[in-house]
Amino acid sequence: MPEPTRPAPILTPDNAFFWEAAARGELVAQRCGDCGDLQHPPRPICPKCHSPKREVARLSGRGEVYSWIVPRHPAAMGFAEAPIVALIALDEGLRLVSNVVGLAHGEIRNGLRVEVAFEPTVGGHAVPVFRRSA
Ligand code: ZN
Repeated sequence: MPEPTRPAPILTPDNAFFWEAAARGELVAQRCGDCGDLQHPPRPICPKCHSPKREVARLSGRGEVYSWIVPRHPAAMGFAEAPIVALIALDEGLRLVSNVVGLAHGEIRNGLRVEVAFEPTVGGHAVPVFRRSA
C-alpha cells in the first residue's frame, strides 16, 4: 500500500472522540445528554438547550448526497486528483461535509444514496468518506 497523502484531521478537546471513532472505523456524532439532540460538528454545549452534557451516538453511516462540488483551484492539498466534496444528509438528520469516493466526476448527483467508508491519512488517522450504496 502506498503511504497515505490525505491530510490528517486536527484534533481538539471537542472533536477528538469523532476522530478516534473514525480511526476505529465507526461514524459517530455528539448527542446532548439532556435533550437528546444530535449535533455535528461537535461543540462545547448544546445549541438547543445549552446543556454541557455530551454523549456519543453511533450512526448508521447511511445517507444521501445533498450537494457537492469539485474544487479545481487551488488544487486540494494531498490529492492527486480533485476530490468530490459533498454535503451528506445522513439518515439520522445530520449533515456532514465529506468526500464521495469511487465515482467519476460525471457520476455524482444530488440524492445519490451513499454509505460511509474510511480512508487513511498522514499520521495514522482515518477520515469518514462516502461511497455509492451497494
Ligand atoms: Zn440539549
